Amino acid sequence: MGDDLERLKQRIPLLDYLRKQNWTARPTGRASEVVGLCPLHSETRPSFYVNTRKNVFYCHGCGKGGDLIRFVELSRSLSFRQSVAYLDPQTPVEAPSAVLEQAADFYQQRLEHHPEALQYLKQRGLHDPDLIHKLHIGYAPGGNLRGHLMAQGYSFDLLQRLGLIHATGHDTFYQRVVFPCYQDGRIVNLYGRCTGTAFAHRFLPGSKGGLFAWESVCQYSSVILVEGLFDLAVLWQAGFSNTTCALGTHLTPAQLGQLSGQPGRRVYILFDRDENQAGQHASQALASQLQQTGLTVAMVSLPDGLDPNSYFVTGAQAADLTLLLQEAESR
Ligand SMILES: [Zn+2]
Repeated sequence: MGDDLERLKQRIPLLDYLRKQNWTARPTGRASEVVGLCPLHSETRPSFYVNTRKNVFYCHGCGKGGDLIRFVELSRSLSFRQSVAYLDPQTPVEAPSAVLEQAADFYQQRLEHHPEALQYLKQRGLHDPDLIHKLHIGYAPGGNLRGHLMAQGYSFDLLQRLGLIHATGHDTFYQRVVFPCYQDGRIVNLYGRCTGTAFAHRFLPGSKGGLFAWESVCQYSSVILVEGLFDLAVLWQAGFSNTTCALGTHLTPAQLGQLSGQPGRRVYILFDRDENQAGQHASQALASQLQQTGLTVAMVSLPDGLDPNSYFVTGAQAADLTLLLQEAESR
């Protein structure tokens, strides 16, 4: 697909496309650069620059920029795939999930070659190889995903668009444990947890999908809702496979719809117990929201300062959590 897109852009140079849309430009005095009025916003002094060598545009007025496909997306309000189809109905467009699948596979294969990553998983209480495999957990050492995917024909541009690499060409995920997020059996995003000192949580741009692993969790009439994927992983490991995760404390309308899809379902909210009460406030707000949709809600209280992950890491057993769930029910 990468090659197809490059060919498409070579076949229809950006400047030719713009001229066909009656765009007029004058040289700027710099090599391979012309400027004209911006077709994307209204202006009286030209600030829309096209670099004919790099085949890209940038407007200093509205800050928009990119290649031909980006221009079509912006000027015709089309998605990336629709824009490619508009420019060339013959170009097959592979779904982004196929690329994410490749990336996730690659990270999964890296995991066993990096003892520091397995050590990190152990620190977070994750030691069951079957579970690690079941959740498709991988490791991004950083610095080799781009080469791997480009060797398979994916273009730099596509990888950057999906957020897998930065504009500088560096891999986005560097020293991160990676969990793929699935929706309807396809990967829609990747979550990377930093094992070093960089910013802890990172997702790719775009949708994170619905509730985590909802395809399997939706069959339960009681569901445990946690904040993060490491919480979910230790709970699954302890046998609570009715645990799902909203990847945060706020639910999207789609995630709310999933939870409330079965009337009378019981939802145990098991969020972090922060000293500053942030987790408790978030649980309260969510509980009232869920009750309004007809769900039975139980708020589970962990000991102070703990989250579900650290609760198990510090020695709690499945029976301890079962007790907490029963306590929450009777309140
Ligand atoms: Zn503009």
